[in-house]
Amino acid sequence: MKIFLDGQFVDEQDAKISVFDHGVLYGDGVFEGIRLYHGRIFRLDAHIERLFDSAKALMLTLPMTKPELVAACCATCRQNNLVDGYLRLVVTRGVGNLGLNPFTCKKPTVFIIAATIELYPKSVYEKGVDLVTAATVRNHPNAISPAIKSLNYLNNILARIEAVKAGTVEALMLNGEGFVAECTGDNIFVIRHGKLITPPVSAGALNGITRTVVLELADKVGLPAREANLTRYDVMTADECFLTGSAAEIVPVASLDGRTIGTGKPGGVTLQLIEEFRKLTRLEGTAI
Ligand code: PMP
Repeated sequence: MKIFLDGQFVDEQDAKISVFDHGVLYGDGVFEGIRLYHGRIFRLDAHIERLFDSAKALMLTLPMTKPELVAACCATCRQNNLVDGYLRLVVTRGVGNLGLNPFTCKKPTVFIIAATIELYPKSVYEKGVDLVTAATVRNHPNAISPAIKSLNYLNNILARIEAVKAGTVEALMLNGEGFVAECTGDNIFVIRHGKLITPPVSAGALNGITRTVVLELADKVGLPAREANLTRYDVMTADECFLTGSAAEIVPVASLDGRTIGTGKPGGVTLQLIEEFRKLTRLEGTAI
């Protein structure tokens, strides 16, 4: 596997960064997880935009322009002869001293890994995922904004540990007010009385690219959709529920905290959106 590292392609075993990189020392950096379908990178511009916004919030000046990053992502796919896969684009603060001050770091490190994707097990898509509510509350927006896709994922990891310990793969995260924010690595949607609802980004969700795509698809198929605060009760009593993410795509949810959602099987609206999503991934994207 060839890795893009600071403007060069290097073999996997040579793709190394310094122990003084603040990405390692402090989780100081930003990233994106991006999909490649049929030789085209899906919503690449939106991912690059979000990366720049995350970096701006951290006062991290990227050492590459947007077109340069687009070109590097495409080139990394070509170098690895990939047609379908997953890209991990990472920008760390770079090498500095042992202190916290990010301004001692002279140049951010940029790397891109293009690999095949590790999805949830197939059974999750057929049967739906069982969610548990994490006791770990989503980061407060005035602490680390959940809108920043930073290398510090400990908030999500603590909640994911709860999911794994409860015998499942995803956990629902609530915000400090008790409203639904999102899951540890996915956004959440419910369908109730034929209407699609997802929490607003201000509730503590990442502004997911797949989330935006699903809202566009809802518009296309005439499904009323809105953003609104949701409680655990709203999720438990929904007709259907599903999660969205670049890696996961659209994942039906079977239950929350032992309460079956709807019939407990992937619902009709969810399946229709999955179908529309697949169609879209065959049609659009940045050719590599
Ligand atoms: N929320 C979190 C916390 C995430 O890490 C992700 C990405 N894995 C998502 C939501 C989904 O975002 P996207 O659709 O842009 O991948």
